[in-house]
Amino acid sequence: MKNKYKLVIIGAGPAGISTALYLNELGIKDILVVEKYKYPRYKCCAGYITDKTKKEYEKLGLSIDDCHYSLINDFKLFYKGKLKQTIVNKFLFTNRKIDRVELDYEFYKLLKKKKIKILENTYIKDNDMEKNTVLLSDDKKVNYGYLVFADGTNSFGNKYQKEYNKHLAMQMTFQSDKEDEIQIHFGYSKKGYVWISSYQGITNVGLTDVYNKSVNYQELYKKILDDNGFNVDTKELKGTFTPIGVRKPIINDNIFFVGDAVGACDPLTLSGLKYALKTGEYAALAIKNNSNKIYLKYIKKLRFKFGFMKILLKIFYLKAILFCVFEIGCRFFGKIIEFAFNNFFINKK
Ligand SMILES: Cc1cc2nc3c(=O)[nH]c(=O)nc-3n(C[C@H](O)[C@H](O)[C@H](O)COP(=O)(O)OP(=O)(O)OC[C@H]3O[C@@H](n4cnc5c(N)ncnc54)[C@H](O)[C@@H]3O)c2cc1C
Repeated sequence: MKNKYKLVIIGAGPAGISTALYLNELGIKDILVVEKYKYPRYKCCAGYITDKTKKEYEKLGLSIDDCHYSLINDFKLFYKGKLKQTIVNKFLFTNRKIDRVELDYEFYKLLKKKKIKILENTYIKDNDMEKNTVLLSDDKKVNYGYLVFADGTNSFGNKYQKEYNKHLAMQMTFQSDKEDEIQIHFGYSKKGYVWISSYQGITNVGLTDVYNKSVNYQELYKKILDDNGFNVDTKELKGTFTPIGVRKPIINDNIFFVGDAVGACDPLTLSGLKYALKTGEYAALAIKNNSNKIYLKYIKKLRFKFGFMKILLKIFYLKAILFCVFEIGCRFFGKIIEFAFNNFFINKK
């Protein structure tokens, strides 16, 4: 293996693969991607994609039809266990396993097809910013021109960032005989929501909250299962953090952060896939053109957009607001709620 690359990318999730594919398309082929696991690998994510996210994947040559996505029509809003409104879902697509394994694997195959070098089962152990060299878990040292952290919210790249609030998100899928529908429940967690999605014999139950260490989330998760009539073992339950707010995008002029590593995940809805792909695209353009401004400009836009969503996060979960939305809004202004859900909270992501 060479010990010098123009670009080293840490993490082969959507953000890392997108960066590599865009740079490859822009003529930069001297790329090494380093991934902690071996593909196909499990990533704790419900894997929902919107129409817009679909188009971003398709721009990179991924056929979403090959990843078995469908539109589940019934989208039901619950508040404190009671059904408040049924919405006709227009834009949110679900994978047949209600997770992201298949989507990520098909995306990874594009890397292989383009012959981009990837080291799997390998992680970063150290980074020497003066010598532009990373130390990998197999004790190899690799010199880089640019380094891209695409390793998510909580991994190595996180040590260059300030400590921010985070969301905790947990999920598990299991066999069930529930009819095809997406349920979104409010009122279980203080600043988050619960999804119960069922599709052709599989159900995914997920929980999000602004992380609060005094909450016993395992117990809360079990309560959600009990309340909704699921008698299942929780040993497969997985959880991880997602970022709230945009972080430092570039350090040392040649170290970029993309995807969750830069905080590119919507703080209210937790949709991150489209932003993972877009940050990869803009980082690639900046690296190719040797102009960090291109990336900083896009990040500024995200900071503004997510700043607004952070304010909404604070307001939306106030008890009085939840009461107004679900007890008054759903009852008397159902069409407006439906429009806002489909167009503002889903299709824009
Ligand atoms: C429970 C849950 C449900 C979600 N549901 C949705 C959804 O339905 N739709 C949506 O749009 N978003 C969703 N999100 C958000 C979405 O998962 C993230 O925004 C998205 O995964 C970000 O992509 P990424 O490439 O930045 O990071 P990741 O997908 O986390 O990829 C990071 C990659 O880096 C690798 N890695 C980590 N550390 C190292 C290391 N030290 N060395 C080498 N490799 C490393 C990891 O193995 C991984 O492959 C959800 C998140 C959670 C937690």
